[in-house]
Amino acid sequence: MPFMDVSHILDSLNTEQREAVTAPPGPLLIQAGAGSGKTRVLTHRIAWLHQVEQVSPFGILAVTFTNKAAGEMRARIEELLGTSVGPMWIGTFHGLSHRFLRMHWKEAKLPQTFQILDSEDQRRMVQRAIRSLDLDESRWPPRNAMWYINNKKDDGLRPEHIRDDDDPTEQQMIRIYKAYETACQLAGAVDFAELLLRALETLRDNEELLKHYQSRFQHLLVDEFQDTNSIQYAWLQLLAGDSGNIFAVGDDDQSIYGWRGAKVENILNFQDHFANTKVIRLERNYRSTGNILNAANALIEFNEDRLGKNLWTDIGDGDPITFYSAHNEGDEARFIIERILEHVHNGGTRSETAILYRSNAQSRALEEELVRSGIKYRVYGGLRFFERMEIKDALAYLRLISLSDDDVSFERVVNQPTRGIGEKTLSQIRTVATEANVSLWHACAEILTANGLKGRAATAVSGFMKLVMQMRKATEGMSLDKMIEHVIQHSGLLDHYKKDRTDKGEQRVENLQELIGAGIDPPDLPEDMPDMTVLDAFLSNAALEAGEQQGDEWEDCVQLMTMHSAKGLEFPLVFITGMEQGLFPSKRSIEESGKVEEERRLCYVGITRAEKKLYLSMAEHRRLYGRDHFNTPSKFISEIPAELVQEVRPRMHVSRPMASTPARRSALREDNQTGLTVGQRVRHSKFGEGVVTDYEGQGSHARVYVNFEEVGNKWLVMAYANLEVLNVA
Ligand code: ATP
Ligand code: MG
Repeated sequence: MPFMDVSHILDSLNTEQREAVTAPPGPLLIQAGAGSGKTRVLTHRIAWLHQVEQVSPFGILAVTFTNKAAGEMRARIEELLGTSVGPMWIGTFHGLSHRFLRMHWKEAKLPQTFQILDSEDQRRMVQRAIRSLDLDESRWPPRNAMWYINNKKDDGLRPEHIRDDDDPTEQQMIRIYKAYETACQLAGAVDFAELLLRALETLRDNEELLKHYQSRFQHLLVDEFQDTNSIQYAWLQLLAGDSGNIFAVGDDDQSIYGWRGAKVENILNFQDHFANTKVIRLERNYRSTGNILNAANALIEFNEDRLGKNLWTDIGDGDPITFYSAHNEGDEARFIIERILEHVHNGGTRSETAILYRSNAQSRALEEELVRSGIKYRVYGGLRFFERMEIKDALAYLRLISLSDDDVSFERVVNQPTRGIGEKTLSQIRTVATEANVSLWHACAEILTANGLKGRAATAVSGFMKLVMQMRKATEGMSLDKMIEHVIQHSGLLDHYKKDRTDKGEQRVENLQELIGAGIDPPDLPEDMPDMTVLDAFLSNAALEAGEQQGDEWEDCVQLMTMHSAKGLEFPLVFITGMEQGLFPSKRSIEESGKVEEERRLCYVGITRAEKKLYLSMAEHRRLYGRDHFNTPSKFISEIPAELVQEVRPRMHVSRPMASTPARRSALREDNQTGLTVGQRVRHSKFGEGVVTDYEGQGSHARVYVNFEEVGNKWLVMAYANLEVLNVA
């Protein structure tokens, strides 16, 4: 080994961490709690392998759970090494499988320009399969079938592998699965689960390919190992081959994807699968204060099914955890915003702050208040840029330009904007497609040639086909942004959304324009895929990385995300919202035995994201999914030792909305445009008499909050309320 100074790789590691980083080749498992440096060890290991063991970047494959984590991992390694590690395969299971399939599309029996289906595309495709079998959709809901198919794929099962045990439901599901599979193959479409399964099968069934990759990847490294599912594990095993140079880090207490087929037993079985596995435990936590860590430790103790470990820290106790029980979700959001403003006032940054929630829908109320307070924020997950309707429409046109056999895209935009192609015509096209076993595009051509469509329908369909072909021709050789611009204009989408004069319509137009912006800086073409076009790379990226590129990552903004997407991350200031029985733990988990443990692990993940300060909050009354919920505190609150938690009571009495906290009120006063003051008595023709207790909004949006004697509190828009002003209070 040539002499070199590797102290910078080992300096900031403790003894156990160093042992792991410098371990000789062979299977190694780090089984350790949150914040103990697992990810840090993994990145240092890669740097070590490269710099000390002289392993080429080509010889290393590292898998993590999100694209964001993969990006961070690459950045950290490059920082450690002071050089780029371009060709190193670092990514998610999906991303790496995708890369593999793009390179080996022939062996995988896919068209070169295969498209990735996101879950909405997939649902449509499943729906089509169900219709083509003449099944009643209410009895065979597409979502259920989709769930069934994905589960089977995650277990590595094709229709022919499934035993139906003479169960008619199972038999029907298998038929749907089969029909769906045929449709996908025909359309050159690949769903998320398929990426993994197809990559696995391709590797397994091509001996040469397998040998090549087994010898190429001398070292496999896996983060968040507790959340790998069967097929991912099989993929790793296959690649590891006999050498067994696999370095896995994980924490059984953070296994939160059981509902998606992740198998925590993989951690337990690891030592059986890979002989002579070296196991290393890390027990020192470097992330959180003593109070936060003790809360997490105490909570997770309530789970019976765990390997068991304890974490310690010498950071000191720090602040107590704060629990706030709000009147409603708006009050909860405002409480959080005040704390964030305080944090920023005291010199902190917005991006040091994370607001976590159990379910995506909770973000809306939080977002609303953040927007109102002018605080910049970023949503990870949830409705991402590339998942928005107008964006998906534009992408569908682009996909059709790239591959006219793409049935999902065809279905999406054949009549968007409307051009007089009705359900009847469509079902005729579908029938021909199914019978002749061709794509919808192909079927259209056939029907038109055979004069199978009458008058207006024929004109409309041929008009659509011409449009796509014209756009294809016109955009040839154009740069990606110009191409996108051309397509959103000539497809009619831009005009279509411009007609919608609401805020939403405006946003959609802005989003479409933003898509052109996304094309200005196209994704890099992978070096090992010379045949891929920029458009295809862009479209794949859009499907794969939806959301992870949304918004302005470099800007200082508050981070909003589900607890699931917070895995692996850390923030000085963390808010866990919606600590309500029935929401977290979820209603379903309470009803199904054994499911609460996974929810508790999720709570453990949430708590252990916090470095310095943790807030837990709930809303006594929450409007969610369009329904009212009256809540009691989550049982997880009571599982945290009381001495670690400080409860803050609402400072206003209940009849007053929390919008009226002092800081906010003074801000609101300045732009009170209602012409009314707090305390003013008013009369409404329907609700009777009441007192103004708050106001907000500008111009035609100006609203007052009135406490009516008969009907209670109501927000009223000034422009419509016709309030009669009574004697001055
Ligand atoms: P999780 O289970 O949440 O994914 P983890 O075990 O992967 O956590 P890391 O994210 O690697 O933990 O580390 C947690 C924090 O502790 C990071 O900020 C990391 O830089 C820091 N850290 C880890 N080990 C050390 C060390 N030996 N000295 C100083 N800081 C450390
Ligand atoms: Mg980690």
